[in-house]
Amino acid sequence: MDLVGVREVRVPTTRDEVVFAQGEIPLGGGTWLFSEPQPGITGLVDLTALGWDPVTLTHDQLIISATCTIAELSRLPYRDGWQAHPLVWQCVNSLLASFKIWNIATVGGNVCTALPAGAMISLMTGLDATALIWMAGAGERRMPVAQFIMGVRQNELAPGEVLRAIEIPLEHLTARTGFRRIALSPLGRTGTLVTARLDHGGETVFTVTGGTTRPRQLRFDDIPDAATLATAVHSINDWYTDPHGAADWREAMSAVFAEEIRQELQESELQESEPHESELHESGEAL
Ligand SMILES: Cc1cc2nc3c(=O)[nH]c(=O)nc-3n(C[C@H](O)[C@H](O)[C@H](O)COP(=O)(O)OP(=O)(O)OC[C@H]3O[C@@H](n4cnc5c(N)ncnc54)[C@H](O)[C@@H]3O)c2cc1C
Repeated sequence: MDLVGVREVRVPTTRDEVVFAQGEIPLGGGTWLFSEPQPGITGLVDLTALGWDPVTLTHDQLIISATCTIAELSRLPYRDGWQAHPLVWQCVNSLLASFKIWNIATVGGNVCTALPAGAMISLMTGLDATALIWMAGAGERRMPVAQFIMGVRQNELAPGEVLRAIEIPLEHLTARTGFRRIALSPLGRTGTLVTARLDHGGETVFTVTGGTTRPRQLRFDDIPDAATLATAVHSINDWYTDPHGAADWREAMSAVFAEEIRQELQESELQESEPHESELHESGEAL
């Protein structure tokens, strides 16, 4: 759709040029911005020419630039030990997306739009990632993505700030994860999406997105028992209703999914703790 109030689209190539006059806002892929009227918006500041590397690997983090497209992220190669790698594809694939959206929408745009069905929000909160924010003028600040999202269409950015990148701790990529999602129709927008991550220290984090107004995380020192988990899920108090699902359905499905993932994680942990046949031979304990 034409944004009839927009008079100028600026394309900065350096940070100094990333400044916002009254009525100007950041432009990522534009798939949401150009999908509905934007009253009061008179200018766009296109972030996609800043030359940010889509994905950077450091010794302890995977850094995803805000301008990395969903399509680029979908091609993230597997690395040895990244047990959580399937979560990337599972979440990327949770976006109700045409070919155009898939190839142009950015990770940062998805997170900043702060829709409950924000698939990149599901991914990043499931991995306890951190948002790196460029402050207006100069300086930067960080916060967990789970806190960055304040509610439906509300994020933590102050005027003039941009989301620069999202930082995923590598140790979370090596954790075991689970994933469940449902929508009202086969290709529909997410009704609810539950992930869980079992860290090496045993901490287990269940994250609910889609069915709630903002990401909800349930943390346990170990894999919880079924009753504890169910109580925690039902203690979430911001299930909501919109055309993509009713609050009570979202709550019920989230509880079912959390329990399914809990059992899955428990089984995989049991399998891992059982000695392998070769170990039994070596230790002479059985056979
Ligand atoms: C048919 C259709 C289906 C869709 N399905 C879904 C869906 O299932 N789930 C979902 O979450 N969304 C969905 N969307 C909405 C949207 O397309 C996606 O959220 C997309 O990922 C937005 O990314 P973008 O880069 O195109 O953002 P843009 O449209 O460029 O920007 C979106 C918002 O984020 C701000 N922004 C962008 N980048 C930054 C940045 N780096 N820092 C600060 N602010 C920034 C913009 O100012 C704007 O307010 C859908 C849209 C359409 C048209």
